[in-house]
Amino acid sequence: MTNINLIFATSNQNKVLEIQKILPKKFNIKSLKDLNYFEDVPENETTIEGNAIFKAKYIYEKFNINVFADDTGLEVEALNGEPGVHSARYAGTTRNSEKNIKKLLKNLKNIKNRNARFKTVIALIIDNKLHIFSGIVEGYILDSPKGNNGFGYDPIFCPNGFDKSFAELTLKEKNLISHRSFAMKKLIDFIS
Ligand code: IMP
Repeated sequence: MTNINLIFATSNQNKVLEIQKILPKKFNIKSLKDLNYFEDVPENETTIEGNAIFKAKYIYEKFNINVFADDTGLEVEALNGEPGVHSARYAGTTRNSEKNIKKLLKNLKNIKNRNARFKTVIALIIDNKLHIFSGIVEGYILDSPKGNNGFGYDPIFCPNGFDKSFAELTLKEKNLISHRSFAMKKLIDFIS
C-alpha cells in the first residue's frame, strides 16, 4: 500500500481531528503546525470557494508540497445567506465563536424562518493541478446554544432530521452527516 502524504492547510486542530477520523489509513495528513507554520493564512476572498482556493495555492507556493484547504460558511436563509463567507469574523475582526453565535441569534430574534446550511469547499492541489470538492448539510438555527462538543457554530445548528445540535452529537455522528465529511469523502474517492 502506497501512502498518500498531504498537508491540510489549517491550524484548526478541531478540523484536523474531524478529518483524521474519516481518512483511510494510507492517508498521512499533516497540518500547518507540523510545517512549523503558525501564521494565519489570508482569507480575504469574496466567496467560500475563493478562500479555499487561495489558501491551498498560498501554502502550495510557499512549501511546494501537495496540499488541501477547506473553507466553510454558515448560510442562513432569512439573512440572505449571511454570515456565509464572513462566518469566521461575523462579530468582529478576530475569530470569536461565542460572539459570532450571539450576533447571529440577535439578528434572528423573532424570525420564524430558521433554515440554514453549512457549506464546505475543499481545494486540493496535487502536482500543481487544482481540484474542487464541496459538501452541504441542511438544517436550522436553534433559539439558544446546546451541547459542548465540536466548535464554531455547532451549538446552535441542528441538522434536519435530528433533534440535537451538532454540539450534542459525537464526532462520529457529526462525521456521518456533516458538510466537511461529505466534501472530504469526495476528495478521498478522487484520490483513491
Ligand atoms: P473557516 O472555514 O475555518 O474559515 O470557518 C469559518 C467559520 O465557520 C468559523 O467561525 C468556524 O468556527 C465555523 N465553522 C467551520 N466549520 C464548522 C463546523 O463544522 N461547525 C461549526 N462551525 C464551523
